[in-house]
Amino acid sequence: MSKLTREQIDELGRRMDERWAREMAEIREVAERSRDDRRQEALVGRAADRLDQALMEIASSSDYAIVRQNIEDVRDIATARRRIAAGTYGTCIDCEAAIGYERLCAYPTARRCIRCQQEHERTKALREGRRT
Ligand SMILES: [Zn+2]
Repeated sequence: MSKLTREQIDELGRRMDERWAREMAEIREVAERSRDDRRQEALVGRAADRLDQALMEIASSSDYAIVRQNIEDVRDIATARRRIAAGTYGTCIDCEAAIGYERLCAYPTARRCIRCQQEHERTKALREGRRT
């Protein structure tokens, strides 16, 4: 598998930007309804690199259970943006193989190649199975 071209990365970046905007709009809507000024401040006008911490705090609050998935998506996109900036986007974090454009089109925030992802989910399921 070949490395991603600049155009492919730009295209995936655009898709993630659109998704980011949608998810953030939903999170903000819930934050505004909660009338919690401190948390609203944490989100509005927050620089992207500080956003992660703000979202972590919000995610741990039960008022925000309904947007937990949105928050996870936004955090995944933030991680993908950092990986684009670092030049590691599109490379599997486990085996360092190219993840492949087709897989990234389906899952732009994927950090593992399909083989390592399956392995990761299998061992995770085993760990969780043992705990219960
Ligand atoms: Zn891999």
